[in-house]
This record gives sequence, C-alpha cells and structure tokens, in this order.
Amino acid sequence: MNERTKIADKPPYNKPLPTPSAMARPFWDALRNGELRLQHCPACGHFNHPPRLLCSKCHNRDLKWDKVEPSGTVYSYTIVHRPPFPVFKEDVPYAVGLVDIDGTDVRMLGSLLAPLDAISVGMRVKVIFDDVTDDFTLFRFQSMDATAGAQS
Ligand SMILES: [Zn+2]
Repeated sequence: MNERTKIADKPPYNKPLPTPSAMARPFWDALRNGELRLQHCPACGHFNHPPRLLCSKCHNRDLKWDKVEPSGTVYSYTIVHRPPFPVFKEDVPYAVGLVDIDGTDVRMLGSLLAPLDAISVGMRVKVIFDDVTDDFTLFRFQSMDATAGAQS
C-alpha cells in the first residue's frame, strides 16, 4: 500500500539532500524500498531516532531495524513562510510537522502535505515515499483526511 511518486513525472530535483552516515544508512535504504524502518531496542522496547550506537534508554548494543507502520499523528506543526534556502522560495508557504509514529515512541520531523488551513494537531497522516532522484527517496507526511485532499 505504499504510495510512491514517479520520477519521470517530475522535473530534476534541485534541493539539498542528506548525507547519511553509515549508522543511518538502513533508514534511508528502507525509504528507498518503500518502507519505514526505525532502530529498535529488543531489550527495553525503545525506538532510537536518529539511530545510535547504544540504546539511549538502556545502553543495549544489540539494536535491530524494525519495519514500522508508515503512519502517525501530528503532535505539532509550523508553517514556513521564509525559505531556509533560495531554492525553496517557490515552495513557501509550506508546513513542517512533528509526527508521533504509530506503534513506536518516535516523534519525527517532516514535511506535511495537506492544505495549510486543514492541518491541525491530532491530524492522522501517512508516510509518502518520494523518489526525488534515481537513488534517493525522501519521506513526507500526507493527511489521511479525505476531505483535506493532497498537495505536492
Ligand atoms: Zn533499550
């Protein structure tokens, strides 16, 4: 049920991309595969995001990468009116949200795709896997509210 964008439908991506560390590579590789995977500690149940060498709660070293539900609830959000870099100037205003990922104790920061006046705390969202280049996939949160529609 993953939703992916088709690269052929879009102009070349000209915005900054992350440079994943070796430790974060499984997260980005999972996005590429249309999955949301988070580093999980089997000893205490905590999810570490961003990933770490040791569990941040119990210091266990034996951490796994679990596939989690690509959905969540908006904890908070903001509307960006001033572009952080000139390349984003055509995107403003846009929304960025803190989302509590279902089934985890992780709160992730990401773009919110929904009409700005329809966004609210508590809004349900799903993760959209956006193939921005031939080898890079970014995640975005899209409203699950059918009446909120989609915006990209
Ligand atoms: Zn732990």
